[in-house]
Amino acid sequence: MTNSVVDRPDYWLVIDLEATCCSDNRFPREEMEIIEIGAVVVEGSTFQPLDEFQAFVRPVRHATLTPFCTGLTGIQQADVDAAIEFRAAMSRLTIWMSRYPNAIFCSWGEYDRRQFARDCEFHRVAWPFENQHVNLKKRYADRFGLKRGQGFGEVLRKHNLTFEGRPHRGIDDARNIVRVMPIIFEA
Ligand code: AMP
Ligand code: MG
Repeated sequence: MTNSVVDRPDYWLVIDLEATCCSDNRFPREEMEIIEIGAVVVEGSTFQPLDEFQAFVRPVRHATLTPFCTGLTGIQQADVDAAIEFRAAMSRLTIWMSRYPNAIFCSWGEYDRRQFARDCEFHRVAWPFENQHVNLKKRYADRFGLKRGQGFGEVLRKHNLTFEGRPHRGIDDARNIVRVMPIIFEA
């Protein structure tokens, strides 16, 4: 794949995941599981949002959300109890994504890519993305000559933007990340 495919794609696919978590090490990071997939497809050169995908996912290893996790994300036990499992969610995501061929999977940092890799391995689901992942946190740092990646909240503040929706909800995080894409990529 050439760089031009990554830098001038037809579509960007911004994904933000939420996962089971705890504040007291009651289970290790490696056992975190996706509980929400939030995704926005963005037009390649105008950065206009075109379409969205959202799914709650039922975790299997730690099926009961911790109060910390519910407090952080606002995702309720009933949301995940009623949700589909990872494999089914990925098949829905893949069908939806196929409308946007060659879309570039991107996220704020490496966490979302790693969490997808972990769940795909655990559930024996094939990697669904064609192109290399783009780390928007790193792109932002490169664009502004920063040595370290910035937290997303800090970036919004710097550009006088306020978060719309609820932080730590996958779909809201994805929508807000989309809002900073022109700042990163436009000349
Ligand atoms: P985010 O996209 O920032 O909402 O984070 C994605 C996932 O990372 C969350 O659903 C949690 O599983 C985990 N996470 C985020 N922040 C924390 C935190 N302060 N402590 C523990 N886990 C966290
Ligand atoms: Mg999030």
